[in-house]
Amino acid sequence: MIGPTWLYISLAAVIFIAAAVIAVVQATDSDDPPPVMAGDADEVQAVEQVEQQAAQQQQPQPAAQAAAQADEQQRSLDEPAEQAATQAQSVQQEQESPHSQSAVDEPADDPLLGFIVPIADACISRHEGHLPGANRAYRNDGVHEGLDFYEWASCVLIDEFTPILAAKDGLVIRADLDYIDITPADWARFEAANWEGEEILDELRGRQVYIDHGRGVVTRYAHLSAIAQGIAVGVRVQQGQVIGFAGESGQREVYTDENDVHLHFEIRVGDGWLGQGATPEQGRELYLEAFGLSGN
Ligand SMILES: [Zn+2]
Repeated sequence: MIGPTWLYISLAAVIFIAAAVIAVVQATDSDDPPPVMAGDADEVQAVEQVEQQAAQQQQPQPAAQAAAQADEQQRSLDEPAEQAATQAQSVQQEQESPHSQSAVDEPADDPLLGFIVPIADACISRHEGHLPGANRAYRNDGVHEGLDFYEWASCVLIDEFTPILAAKDGLVIRADLDYIDITPADWARFEAANWEGEEILDELRGRQVYIDHGRGVVTRYAHLSAIAQGIAVGVRVQQGQVIGFAGESGQREVYTDENDVHLHFEIRVGDGWLGQGATPEQGRELYLEAFGLSGN
């Protein structure tokens, strides 16, 4: 009996160990499931389960990546928004500084708003040469510092009888009442100087009126054919009041048969001018804002 009993026990142990080894191998080797024999339904199911589990384990990874990408996108969206907010803040601070002397601080009180177009019913030219910031190549690096109103680009008839209007209430600080028209000799002198220098530029603007609107803002009206009665330095004018008439003073056309009648109009700001440093297109926008015509 010892023989067969020992044999049975040994056999049972070997079978048990073999079963255990197979179980361990199957458990640890799940990444690489054994090839599936066709028709072995149980094994196919088991493999499908393993694959599903693996897929479920992998799913959180792309989800986490997507979340991280979304986070990054949000950050990149936030950054310009923050920059814009900072810029808006600094712009607001800059805009506030001119108001600091005033108790009232409302948009309506902005010294660069509330003007009227200085020629009744005129529109604002789209011709680049008429705009602030336009190149004046004939003078070295010359730049046009104002807005021109010519009949052919401003929607209304403009001749030397066209009234020029005060763009805003203010105080007349210049009115060239004793102005004398330029001569061919003057023009030759301008040409010899290459149309450069403050004095010559001033002569080229012809007969002028300047109105001070306070807080560093002055309007200039140039090339006038005449100055309206009652306008003189020290006179207070109302917005819309006639201060003079369009003309071509300061230009060579004044002593030729050619016509250069137009208004050169400037909004000066401190030592500079509206549209300084901007493109002509941007300068036009600034004037439209000043006239309350934005969007035209
Ligand atoms: Zn001009």
